[in-house]
Amino acid sequence: MEQGKTLQNLEEEISGLRWQLEEANDTIEAIRTGQIDALIVKEETGHQLYTLKSADQTYRVFIEKMKEGAITLDRDGLILYCNSRFATMLSEPLSNVIGRSFAEFVFKDHTSIFNNLLQQGWKIDSKGEILLFGHDKKVLPVLLSLATLELDEGTALSIIVTDLSAQKQTERQLKSKNEELMQAHNSLEQLYAELEDRVEERTRELSISREHFKFLADHIPVIVWTARPNGEVDYFNKRWFDYTGNSLKESLGAAWTKAIHNDDLDDALKTMNESLAAGKDFKIEYRFLRAADETYRWHSSMAVPFKNDDGEIIEWFGISTDIEEQKLAMIKKDEFISMASHELKTPVTTLKAFTQLLLLTLEKENNIKAANYLFKMDKQINKLTGLIADLLDATKINAGVLHFEKEIFDFNGLVSEVVDQMQLTSETHKITLALSESHQIPGDRNRIGQVISNLISNAFKYSPKADEIIITSEVKDKKQRLNVQDFGIGIPEDQQSKLFNRFFRASEVKSNTFPGLGLGLYISNEIIKRHTGSLTFISQEGKGSTFSIELPINNLPV
Ligand code: ADP
Repeated sequence: MEQGKTLQNLEEEISGLRWQLEEANDTIEAIRTGQIDALIVKEETGHQLYTLKSADQTYRVFIEKMKEGAITLDRDGLILYCNSRFATMLSEPLSNVIGRSFAEFVFKDHTSIFNNLLQQGWKIDSKGEILLFGHDKKVLPVLLSLATLELDEGTALSIIVTDLSAQKQTERQLKSKNEELMQAHNSLEQLYAELEDRVEERTRELSISREHFKFLADHIPVIVWTARPNGEVDYFNKRWFDYTGNSLKESLGAAWTKAIHNDDLDDALKTMNESLAAGKDFKIEYRFLRAADETYRWHSSMAVPFKNDDGEIIEWFGISTDIEEQKLAMIKKDEFISMASHELKTPVTTLKAFTQLLLLTLEKENNIKAANYLFKMDKQINKLTGLIADLLDATKINAGVLHFEKEIFDFNGLVSEVVDQMQLTSETHKITLALSESHQIPGDRNRIGQVISNLISNAFKYSPKADEIIITSEVKDKKQRLNVQDFGIGIPEDQQSKLFNRFFRASEVKSNTFPGLGLGLYISNEIIKRHTGSLTFISQEGKGSTFSIELPINNLPV
């Protein structure tokens, strides 16, 4: 404390100084914002007028408007001047910044970087990035651009402070986006590599399976082919070329059909086209010309469509098996059956005649016991005659020599007659008959009667636990229809398509020892076909079957 000054003197002095400080701040603010360009300063020597050069004033305005901070430092690192932007960066009032050491605002860990930069800045223009530490305790990344500045008062260091936080954030975002991109790229590459591996593996598998298929197809003793969905053949195995002697060009598409025997061609094409239109497999027999000896040999051909998950046909697969030997064996068998049944027919007919004579004699002699035995014998001879007749019919049909009478007969009359006869042969089943109006039918009365009695005898035979057969007739669309319904064992669905084949018997029937040769339906179907009619059935296993014949009212048998 200065000697002789009272407390009141001092308080007055402080208040004077405070007023001067405020005035100085206002003056600085006015200079900064360009509101004044001259000022009078009270000095020891009296009042002095200082004018500001107009260019200086322009720069000051620029500097105040800059987005960057601008400061000047003296040799001790004290801030001589700074624009308001710099103070804003540090969240400090301007008055708190001017006069302080710049180092106070540098983030602690960056002090040595800053000092080096400062040292260098005094020598040459320099740049460097550091972190500042603001009043709000926020760390701010900045770029410092240092250059010395020659002022009237001496050399100062000017620093332009560029806020890098937005740039850093963008950099960070860019980096993280880059990392994400990199990650996506890596996983894509991994996926791609996996995909490539899978494709490679599939291709290998495919080529192996194709090789397997080709190897197999070339070494099995049948003709193998594949066709496009439209039926155009696009592949044949080696056996085809060996057998037909045709080249690939002579075989592709529909060209291969030239190898089929002329007599079989129409039927073959019809079956194949129907199967193609329905998208269903087919089985067919025809003769192919063999190049080696120029002979036609019977083949059994079958094809199945290969479908995708949507049920669309992708390809047809077919095989043709040489069945010439079987055909010859069948012919030999037919010849034998024909010969044997002929040979059997005469003695059995004689046997039947003598049995009936003997029966009459015994009845006259009232020898009931012996007559009864003979009656049973006669029934067995009837069965034998029926079997022999079936065998003969079947061989005749096969040879195309079954003869038909051409006559016109009353359909209902025939049905009633056959029903009456058949009813006599069964003690277990009752036939219920419901006939519609009667019609004159052209055809062979005996043969149609044979069909009806065959259907009724099957209905008896295959419904051992039932006691009723229902027979109905109706006329529709110039067709006479007859239905024979039973409530018996029915026919398994998977066997129904083969029912009219020669010698076919359902597995259930064979294992339960129902007597029969499997010829009745084959013969019946052929008889009805020859009358340009149809024989059909519906059947449910365990529930029963209904067999129906349909005959045109006008046509005579062909
Ligand atoms: P068969 O009766 O001598 O065996 P068919 O040609 O008359 O010969 O009949 C062929 C096969 O059809 C029979 O073996 C049997 O499996 C089946 N079948 C025919 N009719 C019927 C029917 N009404 N009910 C069940 N199965 C039948």
